[in-house]
Amino acid sequence: MSIPKTFAEARKAIADGLSVTELVQRSLAEAERRKDLNAFLELFPESALAKAADVDAKLKAGTAGPLAGMLVSIKDNICYKGHRVSAASRMLEGFTSLYSATVVERLLAADAVIIGRTNCDEFAMGSSNENSAYGTVRNPIDTAKVPGGSSGGAAASVAAGIVHAALGSDTGGSIRQPASFTGTVGFKPTYGRVSRYGLIAFASSFDQIGPFARTVEDAALIYDVIAGNDPLDSTTSRRPSEPATLRDPGTLRIGYFREGLEREGMDPEIVSHLRVQIARLQEAGHTVEAIDVPLLDHQVPTYYILATAEASSNLARFDGIHFGHRSKQAQGVEETYRLSRSEGFGPEVKRRILLGTFVLSAGYYDAYYAQAQRVRRILRDRTIEALNSYDILLGPTCPTTAFAHGAISDPVAMYLQDIFTVQANLAGTPAISLPTGTHSNGLPFGVQLMAKPFDEALLLSASRSLFGC
Ligand code: GLN
Repeated sequence: MSIPKTFAEARKAIADGLSVTELVQRSLAEAERRKDLNAFLELFPESALAKAADVDAKLKAGTAGPLAGMLVSIKDNICYKGHRVSAASRMLEGFTSLYSATVVERLLAADAVIIGRTNCDEFAMGSSNENSAYGTVRNPIDTAKVPGGSSGGAAASVAAGIVHAALGSDTGGSIRQPASFTGTVGFKPTYGRVSRYGLIAFASSFDQIGPFARTVEDAALIYDVIAGNDPLDSTTSRRPSEPATLRDPGTLRIGYFREGLEREGMDPEIVSHLRVQIARLQEAGHTVEAIDVPLLDHQVPTYYILATAEASSNLARFDGIHFGHRSKQAQGVEETYRLSRSEGFGPEVKRRILLGTFVLSAGYYDAYYAQAQRVRRILRDRTIEALNSYDILLGPTCPTTAFAHGAISDPVAMYLQDIFTVQANLAGTPAISLPTGTHSNGLPFGVQLMAKPFDEALLLSASRSLFGC
């Protein structure tokens, strides 16, 4: 038997006598039944059932937290004390977390139950989940298709109805693109709003943890629990985090990205869906105007220069000595580094380390890294300027629906998947993908909304009230 699909439904069922233990048992059974998806790298039956028993007791005593009965999966780059974490890499095979990420601590303190860790692209690098060392993930809507990436397992775990929600990470679109591909809500908060403590770093100036859920309401509930300052992550904001109470946002000024409708390679059905949405919003009395995406053709190159530079530095610690796989053949220190890294990392991670090391190297630093930093600053300023004129920016999440496994083999073509998602990471703004469309090929797709930094409450309210998600 499957679980009630949303947390609201689960809460009702719990009020009617369903135990959290029973919910967890169903979820674990469903995960086993859908093993074909390869969404989970590991289930945590022991800790999940122990937590469920604890929550059941608290529910009886009337002391349960706000997420009591919510079942959540965590992406395999988020640490959970005493549990394995591998970033879907051979490099970290067998590694057990020594502490829990702040987001995990907060979820557990709110009485959510963590069901297991989900498959993803290795070190969160990818857009299709095909870079995992543990195999691809199948899209539950159509198993011949990819679920998107890098949080592909997270998206699949929610779309398949195994859990109510999932935590993913979004460095360049890894929550929003898989949400679009699987018909789920995927939300990346403002950079600095959610602690990255205990998230295995990919590109530290971009990485943000955020939720996948079936409804904006569920995503907002998780967001409220995980958001806020954390002394363990100095990049979190000290601004008090207000609860993202969903309200009627009234009449809004909405800017839509012209290029999202006109760019070559856009699926025509996604374009016509956007046009329908724009007309609908105008009819409802909102001001909806076309704007240009700032520096659109520079965004993906800027992101891939900066993200790979940061990755090359962050991944230096996996050398077989400080962290990670140690080669059995290696003799001496240098060979230990070389062979351990050669054996431990997959091809995409190696490509990025090489690229990142190159753009940071003497002689190229100014031409690539420093230049990309300047472009990022201009892009950020222009994005904020646009957000000073409009409450919300609207566009497609992705140019297409989910593609078939193996369909994109050229790395640059894969990087272009991120064309509409990297802006929010480069600018640090919050962004959400909402499952509003269904293509004639049967696959879902999303629209993306962006708002000013720290305007999550408005973003989530607009998502629900304008798009009914
Ligand atoms: N697809 C992008 C990349 O491969 C984004 C990844 C992410 O957001 N983690 O870098």
